[in-house]
Amino acid sequence: MPHTATMTTKTEVPAPHSSAPSGHDQEWIDKAKAHMLQNYKQQPIVIERGQGSRVWDSEGRSYLDLIGGIATVALGHCNPEVVAAVKAQVDKLWHVSNVFYSEPQIELAERLTAASGLDRAFFCNSGAEANEALIKLARKAMKDRGSPERHELITFENSFHGRTLATVTATGQAKYQQGFEPLPSGFLHVPYGDLEAVRRAVGPHTAAILVEPIQGEGGVNPAPAGFLKALRALCDEHGLLLLIDEIQTGMGRTGKPFAFQHEGIRPDAISVAKALGNGLPIGAMLCTEELGKSLTPGTHGSTFGGNPVAAAAANVVISKVTDPALLRDVQEKGEYFLARARELQSRLPTLIKEVRGSGLLMGVELFQEVAPYIAKCRELGLLINAAGPMTLRFAPAYTVTREELDEGLRILERALTP
Ligand SMILES: *Cc1c(COP(=O)(O)O)cnc(C)c1O
Repeated sequence: MPHTATMTTKTEVPAPHSSAPSGHDQEWIDKAKAHMLQNYKQQPIVIERGQGSRVWDSEGRSYLDLIGGIATVALGHCNPEVVAAVKAQVDKLWHVSNVFYSEPQIELAERLTAASGLDRAFFCNSGAEANEALIKLARKAMKDRGSPERHELITFENSFHGRTLATVTATGQAKYQQGFEPLPSGFLHVPYGDLEAVRRAVGPHTAAILVEPIQGEGGVNPAPAGFLKALRALCDEHGLLLLIDEIQTGMGRTGKPFAFQHEGIRPDAISVAKALGNGLPIGAMLCTEELGKSLTPGTHGSTFGGNPVAAAAANVVISKVTDPALLRDVQEKGEYFLARARELQSRLPTLIKEVRGSGLLMGVELFQEVAPYIAKCRELGLLINAAGPMTLRFAPAYTVTREELDEGLRILERALTP
């Protein structure tokens, strides 16, 4: 073990009572490199605290955070109402498992089903687990309908559904699958937005279609208008289930509680996670009454699913993101950002290829790989990340101000300008 990996090599001692910078970013990073699994390409800063759309690293430098924990911290870092709800719950009850009832998750189920128009809620701890529940539900429901041969899911090229074996197989990107074979069977990928390709892929074994309203990780690619509606009709025609992955697009991100609501359809089931807990780990699978009947006692479960503390945070989030005024604000700020980003594109037409998005999920696609520009932005005080190799992703808190969006675009312009 290298000696540089310890925290005791520096002689100066940080003042014990101040929030002054510790100056220890690099020592923490060395320690991480010595002890953590090296499965992430991490930005070389150690973030210590956050407030709204600002975070500070352990050397006291501040950053404008327009990625918000990858679309999770929807109400902003340390949102006072979420903090209060979580603190109250922490003093009351932490966990009992699903052997017993607990109030916060029941309240959350009531609110989520009301907001989505679905009937039943199952709670888990992450997006992948929520999609795993969708996949298991689809298979089980088809067996219960007397069609056991229908076990296949049609998903889309360039999609992202998670990292468990089943969800990484549902994911339509070979780079996430390579090395983990043999993969579970029963997943078929077709080009995103291509209704005819979906139609051709439907066969006697098809159980369901799983789709993101906007491919988030895949590059902030919105589905063509009318696509979800057409998938709904196709599913109805063939007796298939329409499963919508709302993990990144749900919870108000696109200016509706859930993105499928832009098309006025009702899916059979959806997955939710990311913004649900404002940064605490919680996921949910929501489904119709009929489908819910398939997951009878003992068929599926999760020890931590619907944990009271995470559910307390989520109850604040769902109460906010169903407020029409907040949703309008998300939509308007998203449009404001897109308009300003398109002005930037007109100034830098050889660098910026396209600006797109919906609500506060925005992508700026470049003509070249984004990694060096993300690093440059960070050095200039702006945190964003990549969605695919060529697209910069912005997924700020809904509390972000127009001034902060302007500041982010000013920093991006400096980073892009040689
Ligand atoms: C992030 C994401 C997932 C995976 O969620 P985890 O919490 O990382 O397991 C699945 N689907 C979509 C659309 C996502 O954005």
